[in-house]
Amino acid sequence: MLRQFELVERVKSYDPNADEEGLNRAYVFAVKMHGSQKRESGDPYFSHPVEVAGILTEYKLDYATIVTALLHDTVEDTAASYADIEGLFGKEVADLVEGVTKLSRIQTQSEHTKQAENFRKLVLAMSEDIRVLLIKLADRLHNMRTLHFCKKEEKRMRIAQETLDIYAPLAERLGMNKMKDELEDLAFKQLHPDAYQSIITRLKFLREKGGNLTNEIVEQLKKDISEAGLDAEVYGREKRPYSIWRKMNRQNIPFEQICDIMAFRIVVSNIADCYHALGIIHTKYPMIPGRYKDYISTPKSNGYQSLHTGVIGPFKQRIEVQIRTKEMHEVAELGVAAHWQYKQNMAPSVDGKQFRWMRELLDLLNNSTNSDEFLENTKISMYNDQIFCFTPKGDLIGLPKDATPVDFAYAIHSNVGDHCMGAKINGEIKPLRTVLQNGDQVEILQSKTQTPSPEWERFVVTAKAKAAVRRFIRNQKRIQFMELGRSLIQNLYKEEKQPWNDKEVEAVLPAFKQPTLDDLYVMMGEGIVLASDVFYKIHPEKRSTFQKVVNIFKRKQNTNKQEENDKNSLIKGLISGISLHYSRCCHPVPGDKIVGIVTTGKGVAIHRHDCPMLKKYASEPERWIDIDWNDSVSSDKVFPVRLLITVTNKPNTLATISTTVSKAQSNISHLFTVSKSSGFMELSMDVDVRNTQHLEDVMSALKNLDVVLSVKKEK
Ligand code: MN
Repeated sequence: MLRQFELVERVKSYDPNADEEGLNRAYVFAVKMHGSQKRESGDPYFSHPVEVAGILTEYKLDYATIVTALLHDTVEDTAASYADIEGLFGKEVADLVEGVTKLSRIQTQSEHTKQAENFRKLVLAMSEDIRVLLIKLADRLHNMRTLHFCKKEEKRMRIAQETLDIYAPLAERLGMNKMKDELEDLAFKQLHPDAYQSIITRLKFLREKGGNLTNEIVEQLKKDISEAGLDAEVYGREKRPYSIWRKMNRQNIPFEQICDIMAFRIVVSNIADCYHALGIIHTKYPMIPGRYKDYISTPKSNGYQSLHTGVIGPFKQRIEVQIRTKEMHEVAELGVAAHWQYKQNMAPSVDGKQFRWMRELLDLLNNSTNSDEFLENTKISMYNDQIFCFTPKGDLIGLPKDATPVDFAYAIHSNVGDHCMGAKINGEIKPLRTVLQNGDQVEILQSKTQTPSPEWERFVVTAKAKAAVRRFIRNQKRIQFMELGRSLIQNLYKEEKQPWNDKEVEAVLPAFKQPTLDDLYVMMGEGIVLASDVFYKIHPEKRSTFQKVVNIFKRKQNTNKQEENDKNSLIKGLISGISLHYSRCCHPVPGDKIVGIVTTGKGVAIHRHDCPMLKKYASEPERWIDIDWNDSVSSDKVFPVRLLITVTNKPNTLATISTTVSKAQSNISHLFTVSKSSGFMELSMDVDVRNTQHLEDVMSALKNLDVVLSVKKEK
């Protein structure tokens, strides 16, 4: 175990200004709080936080990170509280400790590896400060290094799988390849011990057979490069067991056929030298087609840069060669942490908003000397438009921001949504409109008799929930029409003293082009098909002259009704009762030339015929409806129109305008200043008008004012 003074010395070596006394206090606090607690290895518990801090010194992390590493398990596992830590070490450290504690509480509770991506996002989303994630990764690395002490096989497997699914990819995303490699190999060793062992044995065999080939190749490559006058360091290594295993699986080849088990790194001082060195290698050794990759001109999304190539090396062995500069090498090994040093003198960000870490990361990258090269790093996605919540079984559900328990219920299954009557969030009953937070555990309370409420439509955010609520309301209407239709024809049967028989009705379905009985009932309920027509189709013998007259009268009445509807409607050309709305893009007013567009779910939208939005529907002629204003209807309905007016900026200008508008029998519903200069103001003003004539009146009344320079209808 790292001793107290060794740890302090390490931090001092890269940060001479680090608060030595604070580090010592944190060390002593951890030892005291963990007291006689033991690890499964038998070591005192506090050896763990000390080792975690040690790992983080390899990444040259700042004082607060190292102190947090020492304290990271004290809130979770000892009597220490947030307040204690804040009192002793300040708010920054206390917040970091709390962040790590929160992260540690979300264990993967389920076995579902398909959820790995969601978990990674959750971990990212919860790591408001990137240092929290770095500490968590170091914590996991030390736990993996000591995993063999854990006695429960099942627990070992779970932790190893979680490491492979969640933490190794996160380390990779942050560009921390050294950490990723070690996590992967440790997990692989636990999960597939036989495969691991056989690869190790095989590697050993090859090493013995080939003598110390790696070193000889290193020497040869060094010679090749220095002969060309370049200064370079060359390192050789065997590939890692996990990467060999993954390759065997991916390409489905046995180990014997994996021959390029050796990889070499050439580290030079600048980018030009990288390409120069590549030229030397390609000239001296035959290159293997398809293996050359230029990650310098196109860095990986985590910022990784290098040239990769594969050649038949000095001893006729296939080898892999990576060429990079010193900076690239540092970034490849340490990732995000490599930039940390640039940050030392920056003021800590004080806004406690989520994803602060992401912005800090951006700051880091922007302040690094090679900002252009590392901007790719920003692609580490931000998940601020998404949240992740647990089911009681521990499954993770990803939802858009502002999602509610109803969205959650529909995300599980539409049945759960339809019968959702309440929700427990983290064990407490909460209203269904509660906005869910990252990491919430949500239990949906269901009742068989519960049905979706139209209210829900106002607060759900997912398309699935919205569609389900609307579908339900539509279905409800359909059921009502169906029942109405059925009772209409049943009444006719009664009047005509016929025994009710739905089999008879079913027999005439083809005549009315309806697929099912229910559909025909709906048509009758809506009045599209007359119940009497259906009845006399079944019993033509009942159609007396008298009935015929009644029938014609009824039909006439019905068409009269249709006309009546038309008469009262402001718009001609629509089926009565259809829902319509006036589009907000062009604010049509009676008198304007208009068209109707059938929209999904919102009935017919009325646009002005010159509205630019209409272009969207150019290829869908079936949506267009020919309509016009109904001039014979006098209505008090008013329509908002947005005007852009320029006025002189004098006292009373606004009062004059408002008086004029109201004298023109209109009303200002909205007004704001677009721009203001010394003498003038530009105003955007919504006025309510009845029709185009009324609008003309209002506009010319305004134009006649001295203070008004121009009035335009806003497009
Ligand atoms: Mn720990």
